[in-house]
Amino acid sequence: MKIVFLGPPGAGKGTQAQILVNKYRIAQISTGDMLRAEVKNQTDIGKLAKSIMDAGQLLPDDLMIKMIETRIHKNDCHNGFILDGFPRSLGQAQALDKMFALQHTKIDLVLLLEVDEQVLADRISGRFSCANCGASYHKTMKQPKVKGVCDVCGATEFVYRADDNKETVLARLETYKKQTAPLLPYYEQKKCLYRIDGMKNVNEVAKEIDQIIKNIV
Ligand code: ADP
Ligand code: AMP
Repeated sequence: MKIVFLGPPGAGKGTQAQILVNKYRIAQISTGDMLRAEVKNQTDIGKLAKSIMDAGQLLPDDLMIKMIETRIHKNDCHNGFILDGFPRSLGQAQALDKMFALQHTKIDLVLLLEVDEQVLADRISGRFSCANCGASYHKTMKQPKVKGVCDVCGATEFVYRADDNKETVLARLETYKKQTAPLLPYYEQKKCLYRIDGMKNVNEVAKEIDQIIKNIV
């Protein structure tokens, strides 16, 4: 099963991807998480990525395409995977199609999470995650069950994303509209795009996604 998540920053892609990973035992490939790891480890890619991510812009297509090409050939992807944050431009989408065509395979479905802009701002401003395992939380909508303790791994340290500030969020939204939104007609034409009401609560959105997967795959 190969799934692509699309949607503006804060729409709930990572949250829903985590649910699917646990349910279907497939890999979650978050290019944002991969880049944050590069930044943390101060690699050459990380050094380049830092200022681009802080500005809310996209890294060059060729770099991201290479990164994904390497990642999808790893063992944990045999069962399938969820792309969360890739493709983000027409160039990336076309490159992904070419990669899959060479393997005689294709994307099973593209799930678009639709959320109003005002709600996106609330979601992003309250987002935090476990410093150890990356599990994602929200200060009002999804607190850990025991305050200050990660539900998944029991760690007690949490982090906020450097690019979740007001100014960068506005830039990320603009980047989404200009460079990623053109992927909607692209996938609509290929008849694999499914629109999901991302305004509902986490469980309701997960149910809607589950129904779509059951009907398609
Ligand atoms: P994305 O990966 O699309 O940027 P996330 O999955 O990180 O978005 O979600 C952004 C924030 O909103 C997180 O703090 C998450 O806990 C919260 N969230 C995700 N989905 C919902 C939802 N359906 N309702 C309310 N809050 C949500
Ligand atoms: P995300 O965690 O998906 O919100 O991504 C965080 C940031 O990483 C984005 O604002 C971009 O700067 C960068 N990024 C993530 N994925 C991509 C991609 N596919 N192409 C280019 N830049 C990306």
